Amino acid sequence: PEIEQAAENTALFGKYELGRVLGCGAFAKVYYARNVQTGQSVAVKIINKKKLAGTGLAGNVKREISIMSRLHHPNIVRLHEVLATKTKIFFIMDFVRGGELFAKISKGRFSEDLSRRYFQQLISAVGYCHSHGVFHRDLKPENLLLDENGDLKVSDFGLSAVRDQIRPDGLLHTLCGTPAYVAPEILTKKGYDGTKVDVWSCGVVLFVLAAGYLPFNDSNLMVMYKKIYKGEFRCPRWMSPELRRFLAKLLDTNPETRITVDGMTRDPWFKKGYKKTKFHE
Ligand code: ADP
Ligand code: MG
Repeated sequence: PEIEQAAENTALFGKYELGRVLGCGAFAKVYYARNVQTGQSVAVKIINKKKLAGTGLAGNVKREISIMSRLHHPNIVRLHEVLATKTKIFFIMDFVRGGELFAKISKGRFSEDLSRRYFQQLISAVGYCHSHGVFHRDLKPENLLLDENGDLKVSDFGLSAVRDQIRPDGLLHTLCGTPAYVAPEILTKKGYDGTKVDVWSCGVVLFVLAAGYLPFNDSNLMVMYKKIYKGEFRCPRWMSPELRRFLAKLLDTNPETRITVDGMTRDPWFKKGYKKTKFHE
């Protein structure tokens, strides 16, 4: 039935021609597509409205989408437009050719220099969004894509409002998906600061890039949560002392003392070769 539906959407409003499936997330399917008028390649993320809890496309989601489409940054996947029918929402985005960073890391860890390069690009995007009041809240290698130049692009930044509608408690995903990137203060359900939570997830991503495995992991979910809650992780022997010290600042269980994006620019490991670029809309 999914394939039939896809066929039905093949000529998306006569504007986009759908091609192959690029990837599947928990709540959406992403297709390659071509703008029939301009020939431009795009990616179309299709969300089934039935999976949106309750109110559907509420005002706050629309607002978030309009913010998202105004975010212009070289390391963020651009949202071109949002189309909708009675049953579906279509996010028309940049097509990112190089696939997921996740696929690359599964072949082995990166050097500290390469890890730094990806991480700086990630933080450049994250800092830009935070300064626009937009939080991702689901940063992990599966949502980080690589373009044809090997530069990192954060996928679906700003769609967190949509995500929240799908998972109203924000924890559902944790229980059925990848809990490894979740900040300790989310586990205690006390309410949290979006910027701090993103910084924590970035810390987990950096650890994965440089070590090749997760900092907090266990086949037993409760044991994993406990490790996250206590901030219990060990750096591999080969890791430089500078990177260890930086990771400790990112994976600080106390959101109050956890490093901020601004603070990172003063860290010896992070700042090497980092140029804070100003981007204008
Ligand atoms: P979900 O929010 O359901 O996880 P994603 O937006 O992460 O959905 O997309 C699922 C997968 O589709 C991604 O992990 C990636 O492999 C692929 N994908 C998403 N956006 C793009 C894009 N703009 N270009 C190329 N592939 C993409
Ligand atoms: Mg995803």
